[in-house]
Amino acid sequence: MSYDLDKIRSDFPILNKEIRGKRLVFLDSAASAQKPLCVVDKIRDMYLNDYANVHRGLYYLSESSTYIYENSRKIVKKFINVEHEDNIVFTRNATESINIVAYSYARVHLAKGDEIIISEAEHHANLLPWQVLRDEIGIVLKIAKVEDDGSFELDSLRSLMSEKVKLVSMPHVSNVLGTIFPVKEICKVAHEYGAKALIDGCQGAVHLPVDVQDIDCDFYVFSGHKTYGPTGIGVLYGKKGVLESMVPYQVGGDMVKKVTYEKATYADVPSRFEAGTPAFIQAVGLGEALEYMMNIGMGEISKHELELVDYAREKLYGLDYIIPVGNAKDKGGVFSFVVKDIHPQDIATILDQQSIAVRTGHHCAEPLVHRMGYETVVRASFGLYSGKDDVDALVKGLDKARSFFI
Ligand code: PMP
Repeated sequence: MSYDLDKIRSDFPILNKEIRGKRLVFLDSAASAQKPLCVVDKIRDMYLNDYANVHRGLYYLSESSTYIYENSRKIVKKFINVEHEDNIVFTRNATESINIVAYSYARVHLAKGDEIIISEAEHHANLLPWQVLRDEIGIVLKIAKVEDDGSFELDSLRSLMSEKVKLVSMPHVSNVLGTIFPVKEICKVAHEYGAKALIDGCQGAVHLPVDVQDIDCDFYVFSGHKTYGPTGIGVLYGKKGVLESMVPYQVGGDMVKKVTYEKATYADVPSRFEAGTPAFIQAVGLGEALEYMMNIGMGEISKHELELVDYAREKLYGLDYIIPVGNAKDKGGVFSFVVKDIHPQDIATILDQQSIAVRTGHHCAEPLVHRMGYETVVRASFGLYSGKDDVDALVKGLDKARSFFI
């Protein structure tokens, strides 16, 4: 079956919006994706028909909301092929998921002198938690290099590996360079040295089919709002034994077995990591979004986006006034660049006047953007609703911006 882009676009009401009399060309899905109507409807329906706190009451509504909430965990299980739904913790976002690993796993199991390896291509969410840990307990943070074209060579990780390394934490897809990291091989190298592996799947789960058992990562994290779901919900997958070895991140209601004035016994995973009333409406919205993606087919989505990557590589990165920032062979739908002699902010402003939404800045990856030689870059990123017409509009918009300045 061919990819029905028109039908898919009709599922996203915001894409019909005209801004300044022009069709919205939304090229900022890496920051946050638009929502299909079914997700908005599901959330509305849950508030109107199935709303009561979860895991609490023995009455009908609480049981049905609990059932729907827990069913979302089963959907996530299917989406990234998890062994058991208990290995999935709902969090606020990927940032919180990584912070939980830093606080509840690494802070407990690592000691002074132990090493953590990340790459040069990290979002701040996969850098700052380890810096804090370094300053707190004296772990050593090592950074594996990316190549000038944005690609990542496994040797760059291998050269840093030793028995001292306890955790390797890397992105599935870089949110600036678009590089698809060889995550399966990264996990294999980590495991050869007895280290655990965390994959930041924020930009991976959106664009590629994910199978955590095949990747063999110990942790996989992603954010709901980037996978066409609501804000305020994220996922932390952990292997069972690893999650069980972790202490709670927060304590309070709904994460305990028994409490006295003296002490508490904590619940099993995943409840142990979901203190307080969870964002269950958001989790249900996320479940609906993941079902939506699976109905289209992750293979289909990925094929469509990779075709678009080839097209953008030719049309956008082919422009003689564009300097690509990240043009690795294995690349997902994220295109960062600078336009010769024109400040990225000026580019974004002129594109915005043409109803083309791109992002400029360091994209929460300041050290990486500096390493690539810039303070700030323009970024155009795709979603499952993006098409060649969006790339054409961008190219036309850039031509216009350029004629304005040159
Ligand atoms: N990692 C990557 C690769 C990302 O792209 C992002 C979001 N830009 C994050 C982590 C953090 O996601 P969130 O802000 O949803 O926690």
